[in-house]
This record gives sequence, C-alpha cells and structure tokens, in this order.
Amino acid sequence: MTDKSRTNVPTFDASEILEGVRRWVEVESPSHDAAAVNRLVDIVQDDFGRIGATTSRTPGRDGYGDILEVRSPWGNHDEPGLLILGHLDTVHPIGSLATTHQFRREGDAVFGPGIYDMKAGSYLAYYALQHFVREGRTTPLPVRILYIPEEEVGSPTSRPAIEAAARNAKYVLVMEPARDGDKCVTSRKGWGRFDMTITGRASHAGSKPEEGRSALNELARQILDLESMTDFETGVSVVVGMAQGGSAPNVVPAEARATIDLRVPPTVDADAIVRRILDRKPFTPDCQVVVTGGINRPPYAKNDGIAALFRHAQACAAEFGYKLEDTPLTGGVSDGNFPAALGIPTLDGLGPYGRGAHALDEQIGYSTLVPHAQLLVRLMDTLR
Ligand SMILES: [Zn+2]
Repeated sequence: MTDKSRTNVPTFDASEILEGVRRWVEVESPSHDAAAVNRLVDIVQDDFGRIGATTSRTPGRDGYGDILEVRSPWGNHDEPGLLILGHLDTVHPIGSLATTHQFRREGDAVFGPGIYDMKAGSYLAYYALQHFVREGRTTPLPVRILYIPEEEVGSPTSRPAIEAAARNAKYVLVMEPARDGDKCVTSRKGWGRFDMTITGRASHAGSKPEEGRSALNELARQILDLESMTDFETGVSVVVGMAQGGSAPNVVPAEARATIDLRVPPTVDADAIVRRILDRKPFTPDCQVVVTGGINRPPYAKNDGIAALFRHAQACAAEFGYKLEDTPLTGGVSDGNFPAALGIPTLDGLGPYGRGAHALDEQIGYSTLVPHAQLLVRLMDTLR
C-alpha cells in the first residue's frame, strides 16, 4: 500500500513499551507518601536526562512529592508550545505490588497498581519523546511535559504550576486513561468539595431531651436539602459522602460533620449552586451550620478549539485504522480541567485503555499500548 500518510505512522514494539511501563509501575507511589513519589520522580528525571531533555523540579510541599517539568531538547521554550500532562502518584498503598496487585500479564490484560490510572499514559509521554530523539527528529512545537505528584487528591499544590504551564501552551494533551471502550475525553464536569459542620446543644437523652438541639437531626435535614439539588437531567449531582456525629448513645448530639461532593456540567451556572451549598440556613432553631469549600476543578467544556483539536486527533488516528471517538461528558475530573477552563485547546484521555481504575483489578490492555503511542507521536508530529 502506497498511501502517503501511512508511511508517517511509526511502528512500535509493544513489549519494549511494556518493559518501560513496568519499571515505573514497580516503584509504588501513593499520593500521601512524598518520599515514595519522589523515588519515582528520580527515575523519571533520570530517564529524561538520558535522552537529552532538560528537567527541573519544584520541591513538594504540604507532604506531597515534587513537580517534575521536562522540556524537549529542541524548540524555543519561550514560544507557546505543546504541553503534555501526566501524574506519577496512585491511590494504591505501598505493599499492593507484593500482595494484592502483583505486576503480571494474563493474555491481553496487564495488571499493576496505578498502571491504568495512569502510569502507562505517563510513560507514553516519555516513550514518544524518546522516539523523536532516536530518530534524530524534532517536533514543530516545543514540547513540555509536566508530571504532577498529587493529582489523585485534587492537585492541591500543583494547580498554579499547571495553569502557568498551560498559559504558555498552544495545546494541552492529557495522558489520563482512555475510557468507555477506548474513547478520549473532550469535556468533563467541574468538581466541588465542601465540609459541613453542625453545632447543636447537648443534653441528657433520658431526663432532659427537650433541652437538647440535635446536630444529627439537623444534619439529616441538611442532607435531604443538599441532595435535592441533584438533577440527573442537567447533570448536576450533590452527594454527601461521609457523615458523623454524636458523642454517646444517651446524649442529644451537639456536633455533626459531613463532606459534600458536587459535580456540575459546563452548561450549568456553578456559582449559583456553590452559593446555595455555602449559604446554609439551619432548620432547627439554635443550631449552627457552617460550610466551607468550593470548586476544586472548574468545568471542562468542549468548545470550538477543543472540537477542532479532537477532529485533528481523529484524522491522525485514522491513518493507522484507529477510529477515535470521544466519550460523552464525564463526571470524573482530571488536571485537564485546569487548562480547558483557561480556554486552551485540551485533549484528555489519551492514555492506554483498560479498566479497574483505583481498584484491585486495575489493568490495561496490552494491545492498546502501540495505538496510543502512535497517536501521541502523530499529534506531536503534526500539531503546529
Ligand atoms: Zn489519573
């Protein structure tokens, strides 16, 4: 076949990619263990150093690991370039590898802690850059890769670095896992996190119940009111995920607490909903209700720039027979929400496909490694 475009598609060895993925997976890196995450950051930094890329680290804070920034050996990095995002942390505790989650391949399934979310995708960013170095070629745009140490807990220390890098980017590619049958992501809901504290008045449940003001009773009414804001039609959801309260079985409870999770699609006014969550009025006289928190990740809307970037990626994928589709609006968030909300064309979910994110059977499909490497290389080769 002499199709001209086909000659541009690189051929890759899946077993070589998997060997690299394995090296990164076998360094366990739970978000809350800065030393563990930094052990992996050391390895990733060394890997990039060996292929001539420039790396720099921002020391971690608040108990999280370091942010690693990588720059391609070519290109003028003062000009808007291509930003690739990945995270090196996982939700899996140290020891998973030796017990519940051994690295192993069974047919097409390859298991390992964090392999799907998202060490395989993070590794592909390295592998793709290495490909250009090996071939002695460059990309039209300078390439920056940012590895985040605490994405799984909401990137509390990395958000400014992600936004700063995004502001200097023409496009952002996010190597989070493909989903829903190997589809990429072009929109995500926004995510808000809140804490609610309720104070009532304690009293003896037997002798003076009338003097008490039950914080748990108030909590129950607040939960019903908050969750009544959920609207599956518009895609807004409010979930009270954790609640606790009370001090003893025979005491009218003076205190209660709960967490609130909000998901809001780009089409809905998030500010109005946030205000409604924050401005709680107590149902019970003499109870106080205080809510703190806000939007952690702004909504990621599929605007014209993102739609055009997606169509371009579809054309790249079609060169090697991969019919790329995007998933309908997802409630799962990622660091891709930040650049998208800044208006930078952002394509997410470019990592290999698999299943069981955050679960004990977390796995990727071995056969999806090569197409995703090919797609990333073709994007790097053609975005200008
Ligand atoms: Zn992830």
